Amino acid sequence: MADGPSSSGAAAERRGSVRGWRASGWGWLAAVSDAIVSVFFPGGCRICERLLTTASRVPICEECLSSFKRVPNIVCEVCGRPLTGMSRKEGEPLLCPACQDRTYAFDRARSFALYEEAVVRAILLLKFEQIEPLGSWFAERLTELVSAEGAALAVDVVVPVPLHRERERERGYNQAALISKPLAKMLRLPHKAVLLMRTRARPDKQILSLEERWESVRGAFATRPGSQVDNLRVLLVDDVLTTGATLDACARALREAGAKSVIGLTAARAVRSLLPPSTRQW
Ligand SMILES: [Zn+2]
Ligand SMILES: [Zn+2]
Repeated sequence: MADGPSSSGAAAERRGSVRGWRASGWGWLAAVSDAIVSVFFPGGCRICERLLTTASRVPICEECLSSFKRVPNIVCEVCGRPLTGMSRKEGEPLLCPACQDRTYAFDRARSFALYEEAVVRAILLLKFEQIEPLGSWFAERLTELVSAEGAALAVDVVVPVPLHRERERERGYNQAALISKPLAKMLRLPHKAVLLMRTRARPDKQILSLEERWESVRGAFATRPGSQVDNLRVLLVDDVLTTGATLDACARALREAGAKSVIGLTAARAVRSLLPPSTRQW
């Protein structure tokens, strides 16, 4: 109790001085500093609501970020599908049934994390709230992945999977580009968002069957007339790989235009991504 009166007195004095500060025409400065604080400390973690203690621009706490489950090490050499429990035979590449059938038009696909739990929430934040620092965070993880894979992922240019023009106008941005743009910068490669375009929009229906998913993207992408694709090694970036149908359709358009190779890279990947309907199932 002893310091009660004096501390509340000090608080009153502080309040008084802030009021005085605002009243004396320096209010704009207080407003600016509030704005800065709200940029760096925008409430709690957007996934678990825990208080953010580090001054990061990513609105997700360290605990949630480190809970993201990475794609396991044993994956199909081509499409990156997790093949847990399978082992490589001497001198033979480890391939999933779809890649044994040479289903995909891309040369390789890799992803950072499994699309589950906190990762789903993070991808939704990126997709619907345009949280650019989160896009850069995923780009950093993908840069690490590209350097770890070395020559197998060598490319000349970075291209985001495009949205249909109307969808991008509605949303105001392309979530794939929130990752591909900083990624190109980190890899010191040109970013070519205009190389590829989506000529047919995704159907409005929310849930598509496996066949409908493949059908909805077949022939839905084209390279932009006049763009130089010949002999390019393209790094194609998207937020999530679900069936591989989108990356496949983009890769077909790029290959038709003369691309030398197409590597797909996504922030997340469906845990059990479904095999294409044409592939014999396990
Ligand atoms: Zn959290
Ligand atoms: Zn595969």
